[in-house]
Amino acid sequence: MAKKRRIVIALGGNALGNTLPEQMAAVKITARAIVDLIEEGCEVVVAHGNGPQVGMVNNAMIALTHEDEKQPNTPLSVCVAMSQAYIGYDLQNALREELLNRNITNIPVATMITQVRVDADDPAFQSPSKPIGKFVSAEQAKMMEENFNYIMKEDSGRGYRRVVASPKPVEIIEIGTIRTMVDSGDLVIACGGGGIPVTRQGNHLKGASAVIDKDFASCLLAKELDADYLIILTAVEKVALNFGQPDEKWLDSVSVEEARNYINEGHFAAGSMLPKVEAAVDFASSKPGRTALITLLEKSRDAIQGATGTTFHL
Ligand code: ADP
Ligand code: MG
Repeated sequence: MAKKRRIVIALGGNALGNTLPEQMAAVKITARAIVDLIEEGCEVVVAHGNGPQVGMVNNAMIALTHEDEKQPNTPLSVCVAMSQAYIGYDLQNALREELLNRNITNIPVATMITQVRVDADDPAFQSPSKPIGKFVSAEQAKMMEENFNYIMKEDSGRGYRRVVASPKPVEIIEIGTIRTMVDSGDLVIACGGGGIPVTRQGNHLKGASAVIDKDFASCLLAKELDADYLIILTAVEKVALNFGQPDEKWLDSVSVEEARNYINEGHFAAGSMLPKVEAAVDFASSKPGRTALITLLEKSRDAIQGATGTTFHL
């Protein structure tokens, strides 16, 4: 029997929804798309984002400090851990059910709580850029800056939001366990929300006030697991040049060299498509035979057969 293709899938916001009921509904559709790939003969590892969820948990924990003065503010790393476990629970529940519905009974599903080490000297810590949580008034923003030491930024006329650092992932602490589980055929959910950011202090791993981009964390996971594919599932079927312009051009297949030129020409929006294309280029250029793919969740089966999506190759 041919060796199974190993795929790391990075799920974006549209695979998980924005609220508890939305997520519960979304994971059912997501589970179908993932089990489709397993039926295609692929070995799948799942990673995912947590933008709305970590904001939600963070706001809930702030509310707790108002209700109970003995409760200090919850570190962001703990909020990421909570979001990872909550999303992992919904995903592993839905995946197990979908596998059983298709009479696949030999693939255990598990979520690995994952810490990801970042560099304490990462320049991202000096210029927090990633907005999380809800919009608040100027007055509330001032209060949050004073009480919690948050950095609040005005966001294009819509109010103020907390911004946090988004450092690059350097090391997946639990990679050994993840690899053992994947090698033995388990369906593993790992690096949720980009992983819980930690910095090393001797033997101690200290939670960092940051959110790691899930596209970069998934790329590191795919390289560490020697995957054949990194598939980034998002809200568009393909990546475009001149996105949203009259001369918009959808890309089918690009070399890493072409993609690097397009990045330099500014075709991809920072914070949304840019990290995906950067992660795709990083993975595809890391070793011959590695392919990255950006497409819609519902199109993942077609895309793995080469029918759609944007493919990145050496
Ligand atoms: P996710 O939650 O999956 O990370 P994002 O919203 O962060 O999703 O990024 C996907 C979005 O990037 C698309 O929905 C699209 O609006 C936007 N985008 C920006 N530039 C491009 C581009 N050049 N081609 C395609 N989509 C783009
Ligand atoms: Mg995103």
